[in-house]
Amino acid sequence: MDATNRYSGSCHCGNIQLEFTTKIPHSEIQPRICTCSFCSKHNAVYISDPKGDLAVSVENPLEISAYQHGTNTAGFIVCKQCGVFAVALSKINRKVHAVLNVRTMDGAAFVNAPQLFDYDGEAKEERLTRRSRNWIGQVTLENFEI
Ligand SMILES: [Zn+2]
Repeated sequence: MDATNRYSGSCHCGNIQLEFTTKIPHSEIQPRICTCSFCSKHNAVYISDPKGDLAVSVENPLEISAYQHGTNTAGFIVCKQCGVFAVALSKINRKVHAVLNVRTMDGAAFVNAPQLFDYDGEAKEERLTRRSRNWIGQVTLENFEI
């Protein structure tokens, strides 16, 4: 049960590379869909594990956008070259937390049907507390920062 699962992904052109490792068994990964308009427009589906690790490496940092919206407390990392939305990053108490758009993973990173979540109306502090509890807690950024 302690096996580590590793999932790799990237944006379409390869400028953004992602490596996610988790001890959550493959069959138990629960993907989430956020119903906000940004996530809906990208058709994003998220996975995370607070005890998991994520490495985000960018080849050309000039060709990524860290789009902000809503409470402006997260950067939604979009590749400017190919337009793929890869990952959301939120710096909370100087530590970066991440939630991964599983659409960028190569191969199926989940088997369970995604659950819908509506975070509208959540206060900023609540939002940051939820992210620090649920989002990926060990995040390495290579060649860029937020
Ligand atoms: Zn790209």
